[in-house]
Amino acid sequence: MPLEEIGWLRRGACRSSDPDLFFPLAPSPLQEARAKAICAGCQVMEECRSYALRAGESEGIWGGLTAVERRRTRFPAGWRNSAAAS
Ligand code: SF4
Repeated sequence: MPLEEIGWLRRGACRSSDPDLFFPLAPSPLQEARAKAICAGCQVMEECRSYALRAGESEGIWGGLTAVERRRTRFPAGWRNSAAAS
């Protein structure tokens, strides 16, 4: 990925956090909540979330969203039916 596309990452609040919080080997509700709390105070959360949705990042927490939450945002319930109808 081009560096200019993720340059904002240098200003991310997670930069000095434990990477396991954002890319855990064994995800847990506590780890997820702690990562999301860091994202909530991050000055580049909108850029981060937008990038992750656009790029289809399939792992980790980006912009305060888990991979499952990003999938639901990109493909809301019923999207297949509405795509087939058009
Ligand atoms: S929104 Fe979260 S994952 Fe994205 S840069 Fe900020 S702290 Fe890191």
